[in-house]
Amino acid sequence: MAEFCLDCWNKLNHTHLTQEDVILSHDNWDLCEGCAQIKPVVIKLGKPKRSKRKASRRRNKRGAS
Ligand SMILES: [Zn+2]
Repeated sequence: MAEFCLDCWNKLNHTHLTQEDVILSHDNWDLCEGCAQIKPVVIKLGKPKRSKRKASRRRNKRGAS
């Protein structure tokens, strides 16, 4: 699997991800295949999940008799 730094990743995928949207290999820099530099590369897309709660789930059971 090819490794890309965040800049190249965004160019390739036409995205505007930030360091908070992905997981970079900060501790293990690698050769980016886009710009051919040793950089932290994107190892995982990990968007932090905001707790969107859809709490509008009501049960409205009426006993129709
Ligand atoms: Zn790059």
